[in-house]
Amino acid sequence: MNIGIVGGGQLGRMLAQAGAPLNMRFTFLDPSPQPCAAIHGVHLCAEWDDDEAHQALIEASDVITFEFENISAMALSQLAEQRPAFPPAKALETARERGAEKSLFQSLDIAIAPIALVDTQADLERAVDEIGLPAVLKTRTLGYDGKGQKVLRNAEDVPGSVAELGDVPLIMEGFVDFDHEVSAIAVRGRDGEVRVWPLSRNEHRQGILHRAEPQPDHPLQAQAADYATRVLEALDYVGVMAFEFFVTRDGELLANEIAPRVHNSGHWSIEGATTSQFENHLRAISGLPLGDTTRLVPCAMLNIIGALPNRDAVLSVAGAHLHDYHKDPRPGRKIGHVTVLAPDAATLAERTAAVEALLVNDLG
Ligand code: AMP
Repeated sequence: MNIGIVGGGQLGRMLAQAGAPLNMRFTFLDPSPQPCAAIHGVHLCAEWDDDEAHQALIEASDVITFEFENISAMALSQLAEQRPAFPPAKALETARERGAEKSLFQSLDIAIAPIALVDTQADLERAVDEIGLPAVLKTRTLGYDGKGQKVLRNAEDVPGSVAELGDVPLIMEGFVDFDHEVSAIAVRGRDGEVRVWPLSRNEHRQGILHRAEPQPDHPLQAQAADYATRVLEALDYVGVMAFEFFVTRDGELLANEIAPRVHNSGHWSIEGATTSQFENHLRAISGLPLGDTTRLVPCAMLNIIGALPNRDAVLSVAGAHLHDYHKDPRPGRKIGHVTVLAPDAATLAERTAAVEALLVNDLG
């Protein structure tokens, strides 16, 4: 089976690593000269919308997918005319525009924080009257890792905020005083079967994921799986999708956003689950049976950001699995992760503390 992937970053690299035992071959389209997935396949070095490169990708592939969300939905639809391409362009379009994403949640009766679309400073003032403060103002497109956002704590933060975020389409959300954040990674096969991994409890630092830990006994698992299934079915989705939620202090689950791809908070599944998110994404898009998503043992994932820790020291911690993406370190850039496995919760806490002490992350 030949898999074409739009994007050649670490997600593409880990997809290829998961596909190798299934005898899958990979071709990556990516404009950077040496994307980190390229060592695992053929690299087409061209811009995202390059017609010739699209043709080469089509010729090299039995099925096409993407790991980079900012390709145009139009380009993806064109690829899909000539080869099976998953996830569907509609999911990409919905996920990349926060207004569309939130209205999908509302149409499916999925609980969210109060929201208002904001295009002008006058809209913002109306939204503040309606929803109140504190609130979070976000760009509707191209936001990631907490970029393109401003927290409005009090009335002095409001003037000039629309201009400050670049006079682009915005959305204001009521500030959720959450207890913690979780994500559900779910996969839907070509035949409509859905499987969901245990909820991951996520901790962010400066808007960037720091730690993710699967929680098989989380009380909101069934509700999150139900919400995820509604979205996957509404979009007639195929592949892995990530759902980020807030858990409020009252134990309510509020949807924040979706990502139409494998996700950082699911990396623990490589060693920690019967089937990883990467393998199940490949199985789903190729029409193969989906694998079991059970967590095998207590585990947690820690991101490596901006600078690598001492490799030997990390590998000396029992149960630690180091993933070095072979990317140039830059402040704020995800360049690897460590998944720590342990026989029980107390040992996991000890081992993750040991790895955490070795991290030299530079968040920028
Ligand atoms: P996002 O880009 O929407 O995933 O936001 C990045 C991070 O900002 C989230 O993981 C939260 O930690 C925080 N955040 C985003 N929206 C809100 C909100 N409405 N209330 C409180 N915190 C938020």
